[in-house]
Amino acid sequence: MRSRAPLAVITAIILCASVSTPQASAHRPPRYAKQPVAVGSGGAVASAEFNASKAGIEVLRAGGNAIDAAVAVAATLGVTEPFVAGPGGGGFMVIYLAGSHRVVTIDGREMCPAACTSQLFIDPNTGMPLPFEEARHSGLSVGVPGMVATWARAVQAYGVRSFGSDLQPAIGVAKHGFTITPNFVQQEQAALPDLQAFTSSRELFLTPAGQPLAVGSTLRNPDLASTYRQLAKHGPTYLYGGPLGTDIAHTVEQPPVWPGTPLTVRPGIMTARDVANYVAKDRAPTHVNYRGLDVYGMAPPSSGGLTTGEALNILSGFRLPTENRTKALFQYLEASRLAFADRNAYIGDADFEPVPQQGLLSPGFAKTRRCLIGDTALTSPVAPGTPYPPYHACRPAAPVANAGHEGTETNHLVVADKWGNVVSYTNTIEQLAGSGITVPGRGFLLNNEMTDFDFAPATPTTHDPNLPAAGKRPRSSMSPTIVLKHGVPDFTVGSPGGSTIITTVLQILLNHIDFGMPLPQAIAAPRASQRNTATTAAEPDFFTSALAAQLTSRYGEHFTEQTGSVLPLNSWIGNATGIDLLPGGRFQAAAEPVRSGGGSALVVNPD
Ligand code: GLU
Repeated sequence: MRSRAPLAVITAIILCASVSTPQASAHRPPRYAKQPVAVGSGGAVASAEFNASKAGIEVLRAGGNAIDAAVAVAATLGVTEPFVAGPGGGGFMVIYLAGSHRVVTIDGREMCPAACTSQLFIDPNTGMPLPFEEARHSGLSVGVPGMVATWARAVQAYGVRSFGSDLQPAIGVAKHGFTITPNFVQQEQAALPDLQAFTSSRELFLTPAGQPLAVGSTLRNPDLASTYRQLAKHGPTYLYGGPLGTDIAHTVEQPPVWPGTPLTVRPGIMTARDVANYVAKDRAPTHVNYRGLDVYGMAPPSSGGLTTGEALNILSGFRLPTENRTKALFQYLEASRLAFADRNAYIGDADFEPVPQQGLLSPGFAKTRRCLIGDTALTSPVAPGTPYPPYHACRPAAPVANAGHEGTETNHLVVADKWGNVVSYTNTIEQLAGSGITVPGRGFLLNNEMTDFDFAPATPTTHDPNLPAAGKRPRSSMSPTIVLKHGVPDFTVGSPGGSTIITTVLQILLNHIDFGMPLPQAIAAPRASQRNTATTAAEPDFFTSALAAQLTSRYGEHFTEQTGSVLPLNSWIGNATGIDLLPGGRFQAAAEPVRSGGGSALVVNPD
């Protein structure tokens, strides 16, 4: 059954949630419950799942800062949301450090092994790119995981507790178990053929008959508890250069294929040395000024910060707040269309490709793109612009081919602490259940992040900045974002959703900054995602809205309803999270009220 909650219902849930939070007491911790919005003081967390948010609150209460808490939340998500998170994946963390008034970022993106070439996903027998699904459930799709390196780097550089103590809440949840939700089962259902294809994944996540677990049952993961315990004891070298890394490489080279699977499973090319060589990289954030606010995001290998930044620069030349909403949304869709053309043409791992970062974020370049927006929708695919000075306005846009295939399920978590530190962290194993391969005896799934590379250029002569290479990281769309006002954090936001992450974050920014929606409503509002494609994907509530009808009749925008054939999770675009930093040291934490079963927002001391 497909569940569809109209906006009125979503708003009612938000309002109820924000007035029914329990009273805080100085000594006794408040009784926390799953809710999409929480307001109060002492620190705040929002994530896709209740146990994970609670882990973050526990760490904040125990004296940890936002960075410690973010690691606790992420590690717990590895237990309770194993199909979208965990030590087998990677991600990007954007951090505001109150002590030094700086925004820093950590690139924990997965890396292609040393034996990786541009032919990674070319079938040697046919010379053609592998079908996506065949590439996905194979060892070839697995990149060296960057998740644990990110956690360790974050805690070592910016935390106030030890890496080992930040893993303790996750160890507890893995050991004692958690209750299987309808959303969990839907995810299992969606990834079923992949989970069924590997003996280790069947054992951990399915019934003996190879079927999804029952809603309401308890899942314990003693293997993951033990993995986390070893990491807590020995530190990240237990993985990078240690026995866990050897196990990961071995699993990739010889996936534990279930003999009855109809799937073709190819071995991968990762060695223990590849794992040992991995480093999470400190990178400068992207920055644009939008309507007087400083918007910080993630630089390459993510395309998130540059693409949202370019779109904001384009939009800063329009008067969105005072325009009628249809026109403002038309401008949003067109700015996104143009920014995506540039994203696809220019962005890859900047350690391997000359990505014109300055040009893409330059107001002069944005002007050359803005003037292409007229009275009717452009025809996609539109051509990329030229992000190099001098900037020549309004070159006509010629069509180009589009490439790429990204997942739709990741997770985004946010934490803010009482000292003023803020963390915005998107992390993932790429598709639901990643490659489908669980590391035997270790309790977690391996990513399929290498399929975020383009398998082949659009034409043999097109330069494609996102082809696989040894040591390279695939282009991502993850867009963890922190917005400062007068030099201090104003709010933070981020989302899962593959390439729709960029449009989701952009739409939430506009909803909140330009249209004045409180953050929970900005997150809950129906979404439309234009990514330089012929039609714009729209959630059912957007698709059927009067606004969509006006956008079509007045501006020639065309929409395709984002539908889930069986599963509601396919009809949602991005279960986002955010925190609004209110005056007087208070916070409004906001998670999804409905998408993906609703997320969990908590504050240390609820109002
Ligand atoms: N792999 C995607 C990216 O890095 C994210 C996957 C998702 O959101 O499902 O952009």
